[in-house]
Amino acid sequence: MLDFSLTSDQRQMLETVERIRKDVIEPNAMRWLDGTFPYDNMKVLAEAGILGMTVPEEYGGMGASVLDTVLVLEEIAKGCYVTSMAVLGEVGVQCRIVATYGSDAFKQKWLPKIASGDCILAVCMTEPNVGTDLGNMTTNAVVKGDRVVINGTKTLISRVEEADVYVVFTRVNGVPGSKGIGCVLLEKTKGLKQTGRFQTIGGEHLAELQFDNVEAPVENLVLKEDSLRKLMSAFNTQRCLNPAICLGLAESSLEHSVRYLRDRSAFGHPIGDFQGMRWKVADMLIQIEAGRGLLYRAAATADPFPEPTLAAIAKVFVNEMSIKVCSEGVQVHGGYGFLEEFAVARNYTGVRYGTLGGGTTETLRNLIGRRLVDRMDLESGIAGLEFF
Ligand SMILES: Cc1cc2nc3c(=O)[nH]c(=O)nc-3n(C[C@H](O)[C@H](O)[C@H](O)COP(=O)(O)OP(=O)(O)OC[C@H]3O[C@@H](n4cnc5c(N)ncnc54)[C@H](O)[C@@H]3O)c2cc1C
Repeated sequence: MLDFSLTSDQRQMLETVERIRKDVIEPNAMRWLDGTFPYDNMKVLAEAGILGMTVPEEYGGMGASVLDTVLVLEEIAKGCYVTSMAVLGEVGVQCRIVATYGSDAFKQKWLPKIASGDCILAVCMTEPNVGTDLGNMTTNAVVKGDRVVINGTKTLISRVEEADVYVVFTRVNGVPGSKGIGCVLLEKTKGLKQTGRFQTIGGEHLAELQFDNVEAPVENLVLKEDSLRKLMSAFNTQRCLNPAICLGLAESSLEHSVRYLRDRSAFGHPIGDFQGMRWKVADMLIQIEAGRGLLYRAAATADPFPEPTLAAIAKVFVNEMSIKVCSEGVQVHGGYGFLEEFAVARNYTGVRYGTLGGGTTETLRNLIGRRLVDRMDLESGIAGLEFF
C-alpha cells in the first residue's frame, strides 16, 4: 500500500523549523539581498541541529534521509531563498560525498564540525568554459608522492568566501574525457585565490576561484579517475534538494497570494471575489501538489542516493512549475508584486535559479529521453523501467 503520511519524527522536526522560519528567518529575509551570508540564521539552525542533519549519527549528526532534507529545505525556502541556499550547502551533496567517500581521518576532523555548524562547505564543479559538459573540465589534479597538486579555475561557485572545506571535481593525472574525472576534498589553504565575485538576482553572491599549485594530502583524493558515474550518482541527491527549495518558494507565493486576495479590494470587492483570481490560486495549488508528489516519491527512493530518472522527472517538473507559480504570485499582487519588500517578488527572482543549478532542465530531459529511447523494453513499456 502507498503511504503518504509523514512520521512523527518528521512532523516534530518540521514544527521546529517552521517556528524558526516564522520567528527568525522570514522577518529578516530582506537583509541578505546584497550578497551578505545569513550567518545569524545559520547559527539558529545549527543550534537546532538542522545544519548537521545529514551527518551520520556517529559523528554527531542526525543521519537524516534525503526525504527529511527535502522537507526541511522546503520549509526554510518558504521564509527566505538566500537562507535555504546557504543551508543547502551544508545538508546537500557535499556533506554526503564527505561522509560516503572521505578518509577516516578527514571524517573524524570535519563531520563533527559540519554537524555543529562550524564548517561551511562549497562544491566546485563549474569552470569558465565548462558547466553542463563536465567531461571536458580542465582543472587537473596530479599525484606527486604523498601529495596531490591542483591547477585550474572554477566559477559561479557558492560560499567561496565562507567555506572551510571545498569538494573539488577535477580531472586526475590528465586522463582525458569523462573517464578522467575524480574528486579532491580540500581544506581552505593559501594557494586558493578568489578571482571574481558576482551578485545574483536571487540575493546570494557567487565567486570565481583559482587553484594555483594548490596541494592536499593524497588521501584527500577521495575518488580517483573514472569516478564521474559515482559522483553523478551522489548528485541525484542535489536533484531532489534543488526542487525542494523551488517548491517552498512556490508555496510561499501561493500563501501570500491567498492572503492578498482577502485583503486587497477593487471595484468594491475583495479581489478574491473575482473568479479569475480564484482560478489563479486554484491552479497554483494544483501545480504545487503535482510537484510535491513527484518530488517526495523521488526522494523516498534514496538508497543511499535517489533513483536517477525519478529525480530528473521531479526536478524538471518542479523547477518549471515553480517559475510559473511564482510568476502568478507576482501577478496577483499587481504592481506591489514587483517590490523587493514583497515576498512574492523575492520568490520570483530566487526561483529562477532552479532550472540552472544541480543539472539544467535540458540535460535532465536528455537523461530521461536516453532512458526511454535507448533502454525501454517495448514489450513491458514504461512499467519495465528501473523505477517501477
Ligand atoms: C545560484 C547558482 C549557484 C551555483 N552554485 C554553484 C556551485 O556552488 N558550484 C558549482 O560548481 N556551480 C554552481 N553553479 C553553476 C551551475 O552549476 C552551472 O551554471 C550549470 O551547471 C550550467 O552550466 P553553465 O552555466 O556553464 O551552462 P552551459 O553548460 O554553458 O549551458 C548553457 C545552456 O546550454 C544548454 N545545454 C548544454 N549542453 C546541452 C545539451 N547537451 N543538450 C541540450 N542543452 C544543452 C544548457 O542546458 C543551458 O541552457 C551555480 C549556478 C547558480 C545560478
